Amino acid sequence: MSDNDKPKLGMRAPLGLKRTVETGKVKQSFSHGRSNTVIVETKRRRVLTKPGEGEAVVQDAPASPVSAPAPAAAAPAPTVAAAPRPAPAPVAPPRPAPPARPAQPARALTPLERREQQERLLREAEEARMAALEEARRRSDRERVEAAEEERRRAEERARAEEEALNAPAPAPSAAPAPAAPPAPPVAVEAPVAEAAPAAAEAAAAPTSEAPAEAARTTIPPPRRFTPVISPKRPEPPARPARGKGVDDRRQSGKLTVTRALETEGDGARARSLAALKRSREKDKRAHQAGGPSAKQVRDVVVPETITVGELANRMAERGADLVKALFKMGMPVTVNQSIDQDTAELLVTEFGHNLKRVSDADVEIDVAGDVDADETLLTRPPVVTIMGHVDHGKTSLLDALRGTDVASGEAGGITQHIGAYQVTVADGSRITFLDTPGHEAFSEMRARGANVTDIVVIVVAGDDGMRPQTIEAISHTKAAGVPMIVAINKMDKPGSNAQKVREALLQYDVQVESMGGDVQEVEVSALKKTGLDELIEKIQLQAELLELRANPDRSAEGTVIEAKLDKGRGPVATILVGRGTLRVGDIFVVGAESGKVRALVDDKGKQVKEAGPSVPVEVLGLSGVPSAGDPLSVVENEARAREVAAYRAGLIQTKRTTSAPASLESMFSALKEKQAIEYPLVVKADTQGSVEAIVGSLNKISTDDIRARILHFGVGGITESDVTLAAASRAPIIGFNVRANAKAREFATRDGVALKYYDVIYDLLDEIRAGMAGTLGPEYLEHVVGRAEIREVFSAGKHGKAAGLLVVEGYIRQKLRARVLRDDVIIYNGSIASLRRFKDDVPEVRAGLECGITIEGSTDIKPGDIVETFEVEERERTL
Ligand code: GDP
Ligand code: MG
Repeated sequence: MSDNDKPKLGMRAPLGLKRTVETGKVKQSFSHGRSNTVIVETKRRRVLTKPGEGEAVVQDAPASPVSAPAPAAAAPAPTVAAAPRPAPAPVAPPRPAPPARPAQPARALTPLERREQQERLLREAEEARMAALEEARRRSDRERVEAAEEERRRAEERARAEEEALNAPAPAPSAAPAPAAPPAPPVAVEAPVAEAAPAAAEAAAAPTSEAPAEAARTTIPPPRRFTPVISPKRPEPPARPARGKGVDDRRQSGKLTVTRALETEGDGARARSLAALKRSREKDKRAHQAGGPSAKQVRDVVVPETITVGELANRMAERGADLVKALFKMGMPVTVNQSIDQDTAELLVTEFGHNLKRVSDADVEIDVAGDVDADETLLTRPPVVTIMGHVDHGKTSLLDALRGTDVASGEAGGITQHIGAYQVTVADGSRITFLDTPGHEAFSEMRARGANVTDIVVIVVAGDDGMRPQTIEAISHTKAAGVPMIVAINKMDKPGSNAQKVREALLQYDVQVESMGGDVQEVEVSALKKTGLDELIEKIQLQAELLELRANPDRSAEGTVIEAKLDKGRGPVATILVGRGTLRVGDIFVVGAESGKVRALVDDKGKQVKEAGPSVPVEVLGLSGVPSAGDPLSVVENEARAREVAAYRAGLIQTKRTTSAPASLESMFSALKEKQAIEYPLVVKADTQGSVEAIVGSLNKISTDDIRARILHFGVGGITESDVTLAAASRAPIIGFNVRANAKAREFATRDGVALKYYDVIYDLLDEIRAGMAGTLGPEYLEHVVGRAEIREVFSAGKHGKAAGLLVVEGYIRQKLRARVLRDDVIIYNGSIASLRRFKDDVPEVRAGLECGITIEGSTDIKPGDIVETFEVEERERTL
């Protein structure tokens, strides 16, 4: 509708105005094409009063218009009229009618002036209204709605009145103005009113400029009626600038009636603003949503030679499940924990729109070997001495005597369960670092590790006990490591001790002590009586001098984990033996597959220290997890590097655990065998890393071709509910070595029927597991081939499948015997003899050299020339 009206408005308005004004009438256009012509004589009188009694007029409507809005409205009216008005101008025409009326009375004015006056008046009225609306809009929503509604209501009233007025041929002075510019006047009024006096005065002289004021004033009476409604809004008109928009709105809305004006201004604008708000919000949302994927971060994904799907997902910042899905689509059904190679990873990385950065092992791994310190930086360092020997030969006691403290007391069962490291300062001020390895057989693996960081090995042999299995093993390890040894013959205070016997026994193991013409130093000591200790130290120092042990203390530290554990109060703790450089509090390091920042360093006396140099053993706090004994520690430049190396190493470990790719034909066969072997699942938890490794190593040794221990999980610390969950899934028992299950874990174990087995002696543990594995395996079955026969003919035997005529070549064939059919030495059938006949008679047995007929259970495509092999199965009790 408004669209239709628009052109009409724009074109006709001026014409209509002119004419009506000249004829003393105002033509008013309404929506739906209706129009009215109104005679506006009434105004004349008002205009007349103006020149003389401007004030009077003002006084007429002092209460409302003058109040406050007046000045405000007055000011903006002219200013705004200039620029933004253009829009209203065309719209105005329909309304011009009312203003025209007031203009008419002012006969002194020329038609042009009058028209200007009218336009101006209209503009002002509109401006004022706009301001009011603007203000209303600015108010709270409810207020705005109320106001708008109120206005609309009023506007409607006014419109109605207007129409009535217009319809009335003889417009009553009061009635006419009211409808003419109902909304306008009220607002407009103020402007003119404020300037009433001056404006009126000048009205005659400069009608062009001040005309509007006069014109407006003419309408004062009616507006006054409405002022109350609008006046409250008027105070804010100053904020009219926004009107520009309103103007546009109006233009769009087509013909501007009071109703429409208010409606469009109020509701329309409001609706629009709400809708616009909604739209913009939606747009934002869309932008956000779309922005997510579209603004997806393209990452440089560093991929080593192999990587687990989970780790790759981490590095890509994608969900592991998505990667698994993508891999599945590529025809690779893998789990998140499985490893994939670099090429597969590349496919995934590109599929997900990231960039692949290939790195080789060398790129990530810390190159310790290639990092050689310059000769001039090297300083003499204390020797690292490992004490080895058979259990109870006095290793701890000897060390104890050396450091003057009692370490042996407090050990469970008197057995040293893990490696301890201590530094002893000797009389001349020089220091010696001692590693106390456990004497137990199960710890041999750890002992081997100990030898790696060891400069000198002291083999302790009890003079009263002589060479024992572990003494021999210790010697082998020492020799294999190429480490010089010193033999300490202990317990020389004991009456039964015979040092000479020990010296001679050593010869059998290719150890020639000096007193026997060899080059291995030996010393007789008594840890108990503290005799021979100085001599031992002397010999150690001598040996150390020969070795020229040197290291650069002024570099980033490198060390080795001697032992590691999860401390209840302190978290993961590792005893590190510093190899070179100086480890300091605050250093960032990577140790095995863990990383961290040195939170504290504790020396062997339990004292906090700030740093630890070469050959110094310290407990390090601040690790991300528990590393393994023997793991190397390296201080790195930053945490990112530490994490990178740790992640890489963790990936390697994971790969080792999950990939069964055989490296050689030999290992392929053993892998095949392993697959056939029954797996005996276990979860192992122990008090220290050393214990864990010893137990795991020993359990792996029990494994045979038929059964093997499959350690689902092993770790340091108490048994937790997650351990139980894991064990329950595989029906595995949990082994706790010197640890117990927590309450929750016990509850879960009872619920899931998981066996919790506690041990504190490794022997017992291994014996029980061995028995358990044997029991799982059940009895052994041995096959004994008892006969061979050649198939001569084959007949169909109806529902029994096939019958064959045989010549027994070797041994015998019996009914119900297990049998195999071989063709070219390949088994094509495995079953048993269903029936055995000789000349149509069932017989129990046919011997070599005779012919017979058999039927074989199940159908098979036997042919003449195939070989039938019969065998018996023997059941035997199994031992591991
Ligand atoms: P480890 O298992 O090799 O560490 O041996 P320990 O140091 O725990 O000692 C085992 C036992 O031998 C303890 O009861 C010690 O008291 C005892 N022992 C150690 N050294 C001597 C010694 O020189 N003389 C005597 N008579 N007993 C010793
Ligand atoms: Mg001991």
